[in-house]
Amino acid sequence: MAKQIECKSAGINCPFMLRTESDDELVSFAQQHVKKMHKKDMSKQDVLKMAKTV
Ligand SMILES: [Zn+2]
Repeated sequence: MAKQIECKSAGINCPFMLRTESDDELVSFAQQHVKKMHKKDMSKQDVLKMAKTV
């Protein structure tokens, strides 16, 4: 099953959306995006909590 993460679901006005089968990929891409675009750090747990299974 794939997981999906969106900035929108964290209340951020941003079109970023990522869907992947790999938790590691999800976490690393989301962390990179959030750091680069939003100057925030997210832990692995934060990312996984924000993701939904699709
Ligand atoms: Zn974003």
